[in-house]
Amino acid sequence: MLATGSSAGILGLLESSCAGAPKTAPDAPSSTAPPSIAGTAAPAMPNYAKGSAPITITNVKAIATAPEAANLVVVKVETSEPGLYGLGCATFSQHAKAVVTVVDDYLNDFCRGKNVDNIEDMWQSIYVSSYWRGGPVEGNALSGVDQALWDIKGKRANMPVYQLLGGKCRFAVDLYAHASSLSLEGLADQVHDCMGQGYRHVRIQQGPYGSAVKPSKAQPDWFLNGFGKPTDSFVDPHTYLKKVPKMFEYVRGKCGEDIELIHDMHEIVEPRDAISMIKQLEPYNPFFIEDPLSPENMKWFKQLRAATTVPIAMGELFNNVNEYRDAMVEQWFDYIRCHISQIGGITPAMKVARLGEFFNIKSAWHGPDDDSPVGHAAQAHVDLAIWNFGIQEMVRWGPKTEAVFPGAPTIKKGFLFVNEAPGLGVDIDEKEAAKYPIGTKSNWTVRQNDGTIRRP
Ligand code: MG
Repeated sequence: MLATGSSAGILGLLESSCAGAPKTAPDAPSSTAPPSIAGTAAPAMPNYAKGSAPITITNVKAIATAPEAANLVVVKVETSEPGLYGLGCATFSQHAKAVVTVVDDYLNDFCRGKNVDNIEDMWQSIYVSSYWRGGPVEGNALSGVDQALWDIKGKRANMPVYQLLGGKCRFAVDLYAHASSLSLEGLADQVHDCMGQGYRHVRIQQGPYGSAVKPSKAQPDWFLNGFGKPTDSFVDPHTYLKKVPKMFEYVRGKCGEDIELIHDMHEIVEPRDAISMIKQLEPYNPFFIEDPLSPENMKWFKQLRAATTVPIAMGELFNNVNEYRDAMVEQWFDYIRCHISQIGGITPAMKVARLGEFFNIKSAWHGPDDDSPVGHAAQAHVDLAIWNFGIQEMVRWGPKTEAVFPGAPTIKKGFLFVNEAPGLGVDIDEKEAAKYPIGTKSNWTVRQNDGTIRRP
């Protein structure tokens, strides 16, 4: 009894002697009126000082939809506050149903009953909840919850999420568009078209996956000998290496110096060949060359940096912040290209961005069509709030996607704008989403002539 009483007494003493300490437990609702001094009327407490009552998670579910080519997965976090929910992108398009299972069968139970406000604690606890961490399935599921909690926090604060991240550093998000054609003439036409729409940055590719083609257009020996599948893609690294400098020369000559040109190498050639080719691009002044080396070849970045000043972007295949921490500290690239839903959401993206600020590395988040409008909104809020924003990849979506996701960010003159609604600003129409069931085909297979798999 003495011990208990003493503890209570000491705790009471500590509370009363700690200036500014809350009178109530952090999760308890604040009093609606300040303490009054005897004989005087207590002034009305302003709304901003009242705080907000704790809200808990009541349900977490995945919504899968494929209004266009890509499988999209969005996590919906529902709360004890009627009508209040958050959305987050959990799109791992290639294995979407695996993410749905993690969200519905594991994270729903894990998250229910927890406080919606404690985003960092939720992130850290989900991150280790399966003991083994990392990987696209767990990373995307985690990202969905993380982004949804930021969405909820914004709605609770009555502010767009970029405000919670520090406010705007720029009025909108500068984008790069995609141009791709097997013919150089067609490619230059597309670049001109993008310039006409106001884009200042365009990624130029000759065919999908850098230069890969399906066997019907080129008959590689693996295909003629019945190896692999007809749906596999074919790339000839030797041809690719010769084509890219010519592509830059042609497009630069046709489209002029006012457009910034980007090219994605998709890591498909040997490191020494990648270095040699990038050096040849110096006269054409690329904005950056994307993904020159596979994650298995990270140490080659040191030689690449010593060989050329062409700016380098890297990172969309990384799973875990620890994979690129050392590379960023060593300043082996100029732009960090995380897929924000892959690495776990807004919370780790802000850490990566802050790390980059110390090492002159700018953001260039991965933003193709296998990123839902919720995910594009999430990265746009980060883009607006960080000082070291570089550029944002963006692929336009069609009317079906816009019908599923009301409030999706909009593009004007090559800039992305988020709306000013509280949270991420994007909703989902679940009835519309249900019209477009996701598929299960997954074939990210690229072979060289003898059938050997090329690693992205
Ligand atoms: Mg890429």
